Amino acid sequence: MNSPPAWIAAQLRQLLAQRGHAWLLQGPSGLGQYVLALDLARAWLCDQPSAGGACGQCASCHAVDVRAHTDLCMLMPETVMLELGWPLGEKAQQDLDEKKRKPSKEIRVDAMRDAVEFAQRTSGRGRGKVVVVYPAERMNEVTANTLLKTLEEPAGDLRFVLASEAAHLLLPTIRSRCLGHTMAWPGQDDAAAWLQRQGVKPAEAAALLRAAGGRPDDALAFFQAGRDPKVWAVLPKALARGDAGALAGWEPAEAVSALQKLCHDLLAVTSGGAPRFFQAADLPPAGSLAALTGWARDLAVTAQTVEHPFNAGLMIEALVSQARSALNSKA
Ligand SMILES: [Zn+2]
Repeated sequence: MNSPPAWIAAQLRQLLAQRGHAWLLQGPSGLGQYVLALDLARAWLCDQPSAGGACGQCASCHAVDVRAHTDLCMLMPETVMLELGWPLGEKAQQDLDEKKRKPSKEIRVDAMRDAVEFAQRTSGRGRGKVVVVYPAERMNEVTANTLLKTLEEPAGDLRFVLASEAAHLLLPTIRSRCLGHTMAWPGQDDAAAWLQRQGVKPAEAAALLRAAGGRPDDALAFFQAGRDPKVWAVLPKALARGDAGALAGWEPAEAVSALQKLCHDLLAVTSGGAPRFFQAADLPPAGSLAALTGWARDLAVTAQTVEHPFNAGLMIEALVSQARSALNSKA
């Protein structure tokens, strides 16, 4: 396992210095909630932890690294388990193998039941047990209420880390049972250095971070999706021309998110602020405030249903034409 990025390491040290059997790590996406949650769990379970975290050498650390620690329960949606390389429960894996259903995007009731069972078992290695819930906002009402019961009556050696990118969606009763930790934003230099360790060229790191609004995980995802920061820079003016090629090959969800960033920046500029995701020089003249606000509203509605577009190609065309008219509205 790589050593964590500098801003995560600092937060880990801070959390380990405090007592608490249930943490809620909260903040917008892309700041490293999952990495911090897992590092915290790994440190709690480690045989020889230091103030800075797990040793990385012991049998416990090894078991976490190979994703087979008997005292660690990862409670995540199946899509996230698969993406991050965690094994699914036997029954769930069988259902997916037999194509009985698609991997769930929510934390399933079955997985929660397994977690409750896990909570009631005795620890296998004698250093307590940890349940990691990520993203915690993907619990439905049933799973959230089940978790709440376990949080209210925790077994002595059981600890929780809930990591969320939308903590306002959690039940207030769950939030109040946890110690809250707000994720720190990395400094530009730390984030750029970390991106370079992931294979990003130094010259591109700053542009990727800008496109991601300063969130390093999002910048890395953008890079790994093969997006070119140079293409990002020319996107606003291409859209103002109505050039549909600007978004060719983009997933609709990704396109909507890019358009929301552009709309955000133009609204910021219109009200005398600075753009956040694009360089000022790359932006076309902002359209009218009314047109931009209307566009922002339309994009928010589209974002709700974008996971299941009827026809991705048609949707991109519609998005480009909507962008063009907003961008060419007279201020
Ligand atoms: Zn260790």
